Amino acid sequence: MPSFTTRSSSPWMMRSASSRTARSPSPATASPLWAPPLMSSPPSPAPCRPSTWVAALSFQQLARGIADDVDLMTWLHGRIWPYESHMTEEDSYASTLLCGIELIRSGVTCFAEAGGQFVSEMARAVELLGFRACLTKSTMDCGDGLPPNWSCCSTDDCIQSQKELYEKHHNTADGRIRIWFGLRQIMNATDRLLLETRDIAQKLNTGIHMHIAEIPYENQLILRTKGIDHGTVTYLDKIDFLRSNLLAAHSVWLNVPEIGFFSKAGVKVSHCPASAMRMLGFAPIREMLDSGVCVSLGTDGAPSNNRMSIGGLGGGESIYMVHGPLT
Ligand SMILES: [Zn+2]
Repeated sequence: MPSFTTRSSSPWMMRSASSRTARSPSPATASPLWAPPLMSSPPSPAPCRPSTWVAALSFQQLARGIADDVDLMTWLHGRIWPYESHMTEEDSYASTLLCGIELIRSGVTCFAEAGGQFVSEMARAVELLGFRACLTKSTMDCGDGLPPNWSCCSTDDCIQSQKELYEKHHNTADGRIRIWFGLRQIMNATDRLLLETRDIAQKLNTGIHMHIAEIPYENQLILRTKGIDHGTVTYLDKIDFLRSNLLAAHSVWLNVPEIGFFSKAGVKVSHCPASAMRMLGFAPIREMLDSGVCVSLGTDGAPSNNRMSIGGLGGGESIYMVHGPLT
C-alpha cells in the first residue's frame, strides 16, 4: 500500500527529504516519489491514466458501515474478523470488483492489497478491472480473538499457502498482478512466521505487506511481552525483520529511534489519512520524510472510513490540514 506515481500537481504528493534538500541522510529509500517496492519497472500499464498507487483492503468493501464508532480492538475482533471469516470466494470477488470501481473514480488504477483470504478471487477481479495490483494473503498463526476457522492455521500453513499463491498468480494478467507476502500484524504473528516470511519474500524478490504500529495498545503489548523499551518497530528491528521490501501500513505510533530504524532499513510506509482521522491518529509524516523514509498514502479498507477515495478528506486535504505543505 504505497503511494503513488501521482500527477506532479497533486496536492498530496509527498517528496522524501532527500529529494528536496541535501541536508538529510542518505537512506536506502532515496526515491523522490514513491514507487512501490519492487515496482520500479512497472508491468504493462493498465488502460486508465494517470495511474496512482494506493494501499487498500479490497476484500473489506462489503463491510462498509459495520464497525462505526468502536475502538480498534472491538473493530477487529468483534466486527471485522467475524465478517472476514464468513466471506465466501464469491464475496471476495464481488468485493474486489466494487473496491476497484470506487478506486477508479479517484484516478487509482494500481493498489497494494493488505491481505484477505481469497487471493485467487481478488486476482480474478483485478484481471477483469484492468488494474495493476500487488495482492497478499493475510496470515495469522497466533494471538487472541481469532475466529474458530482461522485459529487452526499453523505457521507452516501460512507459509505454504502463500508460496502456492505466488506460484499460481505472480506476474499473471500480462504482468499486472504480483503476489506479495502478507502478515496481518505483530499481535498475530510468531517470530518464526515473521522471519520465514522475511526470508522467503527476499528469496522470491517480492514484497511484504504488514500493519505496523497501528494503535498504542499494540506498542504497549509488545513492550510488556517482549522485554524492549518501546513498541513494534523496536522489536522488529531487534529480530532483524526490517527490510526494504517491507511496506508498513499505518505506522502511526513510532518514536524517533524507530523512524531511524525504518530509514536505515529502507522500509516503506503507507499512511491512510481517512482512517487516521477516524480512529488511529496521524503518522509522523514530516519526521519520516525528513529521515528519508518513503511515505505513501492509502485508503485502508472501507469499514475503516466508509470511503475508498484518495482525494479530498480521504487523502491529500487531511494531510495538508495536519502537516501543511509537504513538498
Ligand atoms: Zn489498515
